Amino acid sequence: MSDNSAIGETLRWKKFPVLNDGFVCLVDWMGSDDAVVQAARVSYGAGTKRVSDDRTLIRYLLRHHHTTPFEMAELKFYVRVPMDTWRQWVRHRTASINEYSTRYSHAIDSACETEPGAWRLQAKSNRQGSEGFLSAEEGEILSREEAAFHKSARDLYTRRIDMGIAREQARKDLPLATYTEAYWKIDLHNLLHFLALRMESNAQIEIRSYAAAIAEEIVRPLFPVTYEAFLDYRFGALTLTRLEQDVISRLAGARKIPAALDDFLAMQDEAWRPLERCRERDEALEKFRRLGLVRPE
Ligand SMILES: Cc1cc2nc3c(=O)[nH]c(=O)nc-3n(C[C@H](O)[C@H](O)[C@H](O)COP(=O)(O)OP(=O)(O)OC[C@H]3O[C@@H](n4cnc5c(N)ncnc54)[C@H](O)[C@@H]3O)c2cc1C
Repeated sequence: MSDNSAIGETLRWKKFPVLNDGFVCLVDWMGSDDAVVQAARVSYGAGTKRVSDDRTLIRYLLRHHHTTPFEMAELKFYVRVPMDTWRQWVRHRTASINEYSTRYSHAIDSACETEPGAWRLQAKSNRQGSEGFLSAEEGEILSREEAAFHKSARDLYTRRIDMGIAREQARKDLPLATYTEAYWKIDLHNLLHFLALRMESNAQIEIRSYAAAIAEEIVRPLFPVTYEAFLDYRFGALTLTRLEQDVISRLAGARKIPAALDDFLAMQDEAWRPLERCRERDEALEKFRRLGLVRPE
């Protein structure tokens, strides 16, 4: 495997745009795929003894959750993020953060704007999610209202500042759409954990956009072997619970694969059966359909 210093230098401070006015950029990094291998090989004593090639070793480590070698690499980012997205981001406690202070400086004069065609509708099945969009004509009205609201909130903030109000209090009514900026440093293991959670389809689209930019623009070129293993064994992996395995066994035993929906329901777990709505059953069905074990409707 090769050293990543040349590619890292081309990435450093390059701003990858996200949303209307956000970005992520790499400030600094330590290590490469080689650092992961080097740390793992210390387990073999001599350090030089090769029981497998480097790529195979990284893939083995990731597949089997041998996580500490991935903690030997670190990345430091500079990010510009709307405050509501940042609020989700900072829940990941295994990173070091320094954020722009709106007590010390004037709040950044920029807010996350929504295009008329980008107003998402509340999902019916998933209370946390969205599905589909409002028509662009109706969205046009919401986007206009949004712009007026942002302007009014900003004007109020500026008026308070002009009247000598402390920045720490003047900011209290700024919308969560206001951008903030921060340094964010995290090791590769915990970054992959962040990416696995925030690139998933159930994560909110805004934070997903940041995770995708970090993953594709920065992690992939800097740690190509680790990233490939992450896609193969973590992000692209699908786990089957014991209950799900039992349902598959019953379907296979009855030679019902690929199964119709009724067969799946007939052989579902007994704990799911009396429930009219059952998220676990829905998840099982989704996985089985993805694997071709249950026919699509
Ligand atoms: C789709 C989605 C929806 C979410 N919805 C909600 C919600 O509705 N409400 C809400 O409050 N949060 C929500 N969250 C946030 C979520 O519960 C986690 O707080 C967040 O994803 C951070 O995950 P983490 O703790 O694994 O990561 P990190 O904080 O980076 O921690 C990484 C790992 O380190 C270990 N660790 C870290 N700190 C500790 C500790 N103090 N003790 C023990 N182990 C520790 C754990 O193994 C942890 O998995 C949501 C997250 C996602 C992805």
